Amino acid sequence: MGSILSKASQVFILTDENIAPFWLPEVEYGLNCENAIEILIKPGEQHKNLQTVQRIWKTLMKHHVDRNALLINLGGGVITDLGGFAASSYKRGIKFINIPTTLLAMVDAAIGGKTGIDFGGAKNQIGTFAEAEDVLVDPVFLSTLPRREILSGWAEMLKYGFIVDANLLKSNLEDHQQYINRAGEIKREIVAQDPMEKGLRKILNFGHTLGHAIESHCMTTEYPLLHGEAVALGMAGALWLSVKHFGLDEQVLNDYEKKLPVLLSEAEIALTDADVEPIMGYLAHDKKNKGEKPQFVLLEAVGKPVWDVEVDVDSIEQSLEYVIGNVRCNS
Ligand code: ADP
Ligand code: ZN
Repeated sequence: MGSILSKASQVFILTDENIAPFWLPEVEYGLNCENAIEILIKPGEQHKNLQTVQRIWKTLMKHHVDRNALLINLGGGVITDLGGFAASSYKRGIKFINIPTTLLAMVDAAIGGKTGIDFGGAKNQIGTFAEAEDVLVDPVFLSTLPRREILSGWAEMLKYGFIVDANLLKSNLEDHQQYINRAGEIKREIVAQDPMEKGLRKILNFGHTLGHAIESHCMTTEYPLLHGEAVALGMAGALWLSVKHFGLDEQVLNDYEKKLPVLLSEAEIALTDADVEPIMGYLAHDKKNKGEKPQFVLLEAVGKPVWDVEVDVDSIEQSLEYVIGNVRCNS
């Protein structure tokens, strides 16, 4: 990190207004870059848009940035996605580093070279593939992160347990920090093998086909879910489908059912069977789908994912009914 900083002609730090009071002075002091130019944005996914990117570009322009400038993205997935995009597109790309402050960003968003912003009402519609020069992961940032955000990140962490390394399924809310490095390592290995998501990288979407649809639907209700919470539900559905269609050991699903109430303990969920239809509507529009058939990542066993699986509509509906029935029993 020191050598990247010392080579930079100018240093900028992008963060949001929640994170800045806790961590901005600490980071500037720790990295010895108190003269860095600070760019503060409002927190939340609704600010991950072109308007905010323009603000960043304008700040860079005002300071006559050359291509040896460095942008430090200090924050959760919103900041690393947004900052990565602004940096990778400015003058065809200036360097950036990510310092993730959420668990989700530490194990997922900050790693792997995908940047992006929301556009035209759809998430991550505009973006680039651009690798950060470095990603600095330090669990100390989690000490100020709300429990609900921790749980959301923990769900993404369990995802790596299902698709690659069963050891991660042993993590619990108290000791999850010791698994952060392993989760990041798995993501890096997968991305290195398939950076442009032609095949293998798709396994990172485990739980996300249903998860995104549930997330989009809940966004329109009084009870929006965090991304990881929706993925937690999506993984329950994917496991159920895996038991039904791929011979996954039912015990895997039973064990996960015990974790689910913890993962969702800070969420308000008011889903009923009436929500199945609108969620199915979002599934049909998922950009990752070829034609009308949603593609799933399912498991033959823990650590043995299969991608591009087409599942018939009836089975998908049943999996959603299973998920909804499950969370209702627990609420
Ligand atoms: P994600 O990484 O899940 O995409 P966001 O970037 O949307 O998360 O951040 C989630 C919320 O948590 C935002 O309101 C953000 O300001 C806040 N936040 C991020 N990191 C921290 C932290 N370390 N301490 C306190 N709040 C934080
Ligand atoms: Zn995700």
